[in-house]
Amino acid sequence: MLNIVLFGPPGAGKGTQSQKLITHYNLVHLSTGDLLRAQIAQGTELGLTAKKLMDEGLLVPDSVVIGMIDSALSTNPTASGFIFDGFPRTVAQAQSLDDLLARHEATIGCMIALEVVEEELVARLLERGKTSNRPDDQNEEKIRRRVHVYNTETAQVASYYAAQNKFHSLNGIGEIDEIFEQITQLIDKAC
Ligand code: AMP
Repeated sequence: MLNIVLFGPPGAGKGTQSQKLITHYNLVHLSTGDLLRAQIAQGTELGLTAKKLMDEGLLVPDSVVIGMIDSALSTNPTASGFIFDGFPRTVAQAQSLDDLLARHEATIGCMIALEVVEEELVARLLERGKTSNRPDDQNEEKIRRRVHVYNTETAQVASYYAAQNKFHSLNGIGEIDEIFEQITQLIDKAC
């Protein structure tokens, strides 16, 4: 099994690169942001609660996203591996992910972080907001709050994987295909 955490701030290109990676390696894409937006679209209670936090650029509770990942792992028993995108965002989520994978006799192979400076993230997300229909992409203040939440609550997840010798980072600014090439080289060598 090949299990990869694709890491980085909002707008770093995780979703774009995930799409290419799942085809290249035949993996299942697990994006907690996408799973939450699906709950919102279905009008579930979980979706309603999450939407308020998401629209403000704040994290939803660990228990909610961990529960969603737990059921996604169970509903894909024959997957040859997973790309985790936007998860884990806290150290508690990272610990739970290790526990959940252990139950399936699996582990994280590596974390790959895409590094992009804040001004570029803000520009990319405002551009995406013109077509994405995401309220959290359409307002600079909310975008900067998401980046702030990443810097204060999420960035430390990198240390969790660094302590296991699983952390790798790449420059996330450049041509999509060139960045993809670098990611695959890293995965083939180190994950
Ligand atoms: P994303 O699509 O990854 O940018 O996520 C959009 C929003 O969903 C985030 O700003 C959070 O409000 C929420 N979210 C997504 N993944 C998580 C997570 N792992 N933990 C907490 N909140 C999350």
